[in-house]
Amino acid sequence: MTSPTEIHLAVGDILYREGDPNDCAFVISTGEVLLYYEVDGKRMPCERRCAGHIVGEVSILTDMPRSVTVEALTPCLIYRVSAEQILENFERIDPVLRACVDTAIDFVARFNVQSVAEPENVPMAPQTLRNADQLLSDFRFELDIKNGLALGEFFMVYQPVVSMADNSIVGVEALMRWQHPTLGGVPPDKFIAVAEQMRSIGQLSALALSQSCAALARLQMLAGPSFFASVNISGQDIDRPDFVDLVAHALDQHGIQPDTLRLEVTETALVPDSAVAERNLARIRALGCGISVDDFGTGYSNLAYLKSLPLTAIKIDRAFAADVNANPVSRGIVKMLLGLGNDLAVDVVAEGLEDADTAQELRALGCGFAQGYFYYRPMPEDALAALLSGGADAIGVA
Ligand code: C2E
Ligand code: MG
Ligand code: MG
Repeated sequence: MTSPTEIHLAVGDILYREGDPNDCAFVISTGEVLLYYEVDGKRMPCERRCAGHIVGEVSILTDMPRSVTVEALTPCLIYRVSAEQILENFERIDPVLRACVDTAIDFVARFNVQSVAEPENVPMAPQTLRNADQLLSDFRFELDIKNGLALGEFFMVYQPVVSMADNSIVGVEALMRWQHPTLGGVPPDKFIAVAEQMRSIGQLSALALSQSCAALARLQMLAGPSFFASVNISGQDIDRPDFVDLVAHALDQHGIQPDTLRLEVTETALVPDSAVAERNLARIRALGCGISVDDFGTGYSNLAYLKSLPLTAIKIDRAFAADVNANPVSRGIVKMLLGLGNDLAVDVVAEGLEDADTAQELRALGCGFAQGYFYYRPMPEDALAALLSGGADAIGVA
């Protein structure tokens, strides 16, 4: 999927010409452009558009060549949005809303203001992108992610998962970190959401898989061949036809036994809503990798999906696990989830345990595995390696 691209135009530069193919739209970040068409070689200006406007979207939605030429009236910074991305989102919107948009587009397609005025007298188009500021900041952020990937600013840290029976470390959850040159440490909750929205999460998942498998191969030398790594992946990964090949390649490249790699996906993302997703989930299990339901209990109220999915572990979200002692509702939910895990014969991992009382209670309720600051914080591979070799205390970095 294409990432946004920054385009700089000087005065008089042409963004596209009347009759060009409709392969993308553009969001104007700064500057001003003139839209015009030609009749018998004469320029007929239609309107001006400036920062926060979009251009080129109509020809994508009508599947017609460009109906106007767009020329920069001032220096401009513009972001390109692929037709593929727009059409995919358009398909997803409510059908009634889509019909409204179709009607509006039809109206616009038939409406032409004919004028031979000077550019500065041509009317400015009304603002249509209400979320322009957010959209533009997402574009910039997305480009930052792309540059950060190229510059090696992303890396993985590892949070130990312990067996509650004896507090031994049995595996890790791999968590991504981004050290941005000016913003500092950007939390994954922020950049993962933008990468998903801009549909470029695949590059981050590929990095997580390859770095985690490389680290796992080294950690297994210290901790034994059954030591596992859980890698977080997005619902969009499951929907990609090439995703299982990517996983197989990472396993192969680092000589990892498939059953020591677990793919962690949130509940909502696990409910297959496409043939590709359904096939991929089955292929992941056929490959031998584990599938863990992350943040279990927070996403989806209809548990019917559990019947058809090849799961190997469920992770009880911190929202329930952390206040099992203090809140009777959380306690009830935790007991129910532990019972469910038992019936489904899958591992249950409690997330986000921060104190001894909570850990003690979860152990008493029969929870098999846990992770949380009470045990260990996420840490770089070398700190974990030292810990597994018995040579370091367990201070990690959050
Ligand atoms: P998650 O997969 O549920 O990961 C657990 C989060 O809880 C991590 O936050 C971890 O640092 C934090 N945590 C662990 N123990 C404790 C504790 O005792 N107390 C508290 N308060 N927090 C604890 P982090 O690393 O900020 O990641 C947040 C979320 O971002 C993750 O939630 C996951 O959904 C996503 N994420 C992280 N790395 C990746 C990645 O490589 N790929 C994808 N797709 N998502 C990722
Ligand atoms: Mg997780
Ligand atoms: Mg979680």
